[in-house]
Amino acid sequence: MPSEVSTPVAIVGSGPAGLTAALYCARAELRPVVISGVPAGGQLMITTEVENFPGFPDGIQGPELVDRMRRQAARFGTRFIDAQLTRLDARGRPFLLEAGPDHRLRADAVIVATGANARWLGLPSEERLRGHGVSACATCDGFFFKGKELVLVGGGDSAMEEALFLTNFASRVTVVHRRRELRASRIMQERARSNPKIAFRFEEEVAEVLGEQSVEGVRLRHLATGAETTLQVQGLFVAIGHVPATEVFRGLLDLDEKGYLRTREQTRTNVEGIFAAGDVHDHRYRQAITAAGLGCMAALDVERYLAERGTAAHPPTPHA
Ligand code: NAP
Repeated sequence: MPSEVSTPVAIVGSGPAGLTAALYCARAELRPVVISGVPAGGQLMITTEVENFPGFPDGIQGPELVDRMRRQAARFGTRFIDAQLTRLDARGRPFLLEAGPDHRLRADAVIVATGANARWLGLPSEERLRGHGVSACATCDGFFFKGKELVLVGGGDSAMEEALFLTNFASRVTVVHRRRELRASRIMQERARSNPKIAFRFEEEVAEVLGEQSVEGVRLRHLATGAETTLQVQGLFVAIGHVPATEVFRGLLDLDEKGYLRTREQTRTNVEGIFAAGDVHDHRYRQAITAAGLGCMAALDVERYLAERGTAAHPPTPHA
């Protein structure tokens, strides 16, 4: 029999959005339960140095920031279910949430803060060699490429950050980008361009990852001319953005054409009582600090919603 718990607020996801929502709900005595997702903690768990989260003048490691947020939420009574949400049933009230066969949760309100996951190129050879030289996480896997040559695909801030990080291990990192200009911010571009271990190939795409048991090279295709070249490398890293983690909500919550949750009136979704926070609906800003801010907003909106329905522990605190 699955364990069944009741709570005024269930929070799905445990990145900065979910944990900030939990902190605010817990301090409002709404006894939140967080279904943390597997792995827990979101994208900060695969980030090294976070230099732009206010309050940490010397920077902080992503996993440590998550750990601090989680302990802060727990301090005020947040409970955690370390499992993946498998079903959200909104046909009756309270909502019913299931996390695998072992956990059932009934909640008067739900905050969805499931974030987004790494996007892949979609090549069969990429999928076959994933974990054998193909990776979307430099922080996790960079260590295995000491003295090796690598290709990294992408032209945004993540790509620059990952390329720079990989130079701690690799002898050379070739950034392959499909356009002529990088999308990354100027400061990140400059850092990457001034690193002697980083080279650039523009207007090219990876047509195939080569190698049987592990990566031995990549076949690149020039997008304007179609000309193909082979680069001998021992690893391929992909840093081309993210896909929102909304599959489990399809058919229930309104999604946009890219799969992000659509919200109205700040954090409300199309289903009354279900709110959204963080990268799962924000594809514009996507920062740890903005996700945390949206988590705070969702918690205040939930507090007000429950107070209006007469199910909150207290009247809502002022939104000052
Ligand atoms: P992003 O800014 O959306 O960049 C994704 C990159 O991947 C783009 O250059 C895009 O090319 C390319 N791309 C997308 N699909 C592709 C495909 N199928 N094949 C080849 N290339 C593909 O994503 P991000 O770099 O993950 O950054 C996300 C957000 O986080 C941004 O707001 C960014 O500023 C922020 N961020 C900030 C920092 C920092 O400040 N230190 C670090 C990391 C991320 P096009 O340019 O042609 O679209």
